[in-house]
This record gives sequence, structure tokens and C-alpha cells, in this order.
Amino acid sequence: MSNVIISVKDLVKTYGDFKAVKSISFDVNEGEIFGLLGPNGAGKSTTLEIIETLRTKTSGKINVAGYDLDSHPSEIKKIIGVQLQTSGFYPGLNLVELIKMFSGLYNRDVNPIELLTKVNLADKAKSKSKELSGGQKQRFSIATTLINKPKIIFLDEPTTGLDPQARRNLWDLIREIRASGTTVIITTHYMDEAEQLCDRIAIMDQGKIIKLDSPDKMIDELVETGFERPKQVKSANLEDVFIHLTGREIREE
Ligand code: ADP
Ligand code: MG
Repeated sequence: MSNVIISVKDLVKTYGDFKAVKSISFDVNEGEIFGLLGPNGAGKSTTLEIIETLRTKTSGKINVAGYDLDSHPSEIKKIIGVQLQTSGFYPGLNLVELIKMFSGLYNRDVNPIELLTKVNLADKAKSKSKELSGGQKQRFSIATTLINKPKIIFLDEPTTGLDPQARRNLWDLIREIRASGTTVIITTHYMDEAEQLCDRIAIMDQGKIIKLDSPDKMIDELVETGFERPKQVKSANLEDVFIHLTGREIREE
């Protein structure tokens, strides 16, 4: 049996009269990549930020790695990694200096070059964050989640706006992070990303979880109902053509 590392029970969030999250419950298992998949406005970020202790909830129970969110928020903060918006980074500091600053805030001794190497940015050590490409910014932002050696990292739409090469590169990085023992919870509105990356996904729509399972099981279940795609799908798509022509190497350097 897998160990539950995050448990969410009957979570509700209202903004004034508006119910953004309508009593959702789910568990995340230790060591998995768990996806919250849904269109804009579904309530993904709200849910994530409540678990991260960054937003208050209206009602419900949340437990993270044995800590109750209401009574032990600061214990939870210590063991999670939250992605920071690169736009908020001090513009005058280079990547090494930024990592040093954050590790100071977390009171952690981190080797900046080692961390930058992990996210394939060692050659950008002396660059400022505004000099990075979209994919590099996202990799750096993921690096900042790892500074406090967290048990769980939270990634909110990490690949939105990236080109196909940078997205694949980021998927590889997320898989590596998971392989090193970190649980990953990620939001996305890309179906292919959820299918390829996530062990299990919760499909959210209008504040509710309408389905929760592995992508494989969901697809099998739909096929079993007799569902067929309207026309025979070719064994490749335009993205395959694009990747085949342009290669998997990232272009941004
Ligand atoms: P998602 O991340 O799935 O796109 P969000 O959690 O950001 O969804 O938002 C869910 C709903 O809650 C949206 O309709 C959004 O407009 C609303 N919402 C989010 N934050 C606030 C806020 N601070 N005040 C009022 N409404 C909000
Ligand atoms: Mg969002």
C-alpha cells in the first residue's frame, strides 16, 4: 500500500458569494506525480495555494505529511517546496546570488552550482533571471523549490507558454525530481502533459473534482463504454512532426 502524504477532505473556498472550491476530497501518495487537471478557473491554484498555507480555506480538513494544516502550518512550510514567480526575483542579482539569498531565508546550506547543475543551468550561474528564456526561467523557478530539500513540491502550470522542446525538458526534470524521492503535485490544462507525466490525476471543473484515477484507467474506462474517436487517428500528430524535424534539443541557449 502506498503512504498518503497529502490528505484533503471536504475542502471549500468561497470568495465573497462565489464558491471557487466546492467540497473536494483527495489523497496524494508519497512518491507520486499527482496532477490537478482542469480548465482556467476550475479552482486548481486556489486548492494548491491553500495546501501550501498561502491562502486561507473556508472549511475542510487538510493534513500534509502528518501535520494538520490548522494547527501546524509552519511545520508544513518547512517540508514543502513552492515555486516562486520569476518576475518577483530581485533583478540585480544573478542566479547564484539569488540561490544564496533564498537559502539564507530558509536557513539552509546549499551549493548553488550543484543546484543549478541539477536543473541544467550551471552555465547561466552569472546571469540575471531576466536574461533567461522562458524554459530556463521555469527551470530556475523549479530549482528554488528544491532549496529547502522538501518532501513535496508544488508546481502551478510550470509549462504554460513553453515551446515543445522546453516542455519535454521540464517533464524530464520533474521525473528526475520524483526519482530522487520527492512527491510532486502539479497543475496543468494540457492533456498530453497530464497523460505523460502524472501517475494519477484529479480532473477539476467549476470547483469540483469530477474524476480521479490514473490516466490509463480513465482512458480504458472510456474505451470500454464503446467510445471511439470520430475518425481514425494517424499514428503521429503535428507535434511529432515538429519534434522530428527540429529535434529535442532546447533552442534557448
Ligand atoms: P485555476 O487555477 O484552475 O485557473 P483559480 O483557483 O485561480 O483557478 O480560480 C478559481 C476561481 O476563483 C476563478 O473563477 C477565479 O476567478 C476565482 N478567484 C481566484 N482568486 C480569487 C480572489 N482572490 N478573489 C475572488 N475570486 C477569485
Ligand atoms: Mg491557476
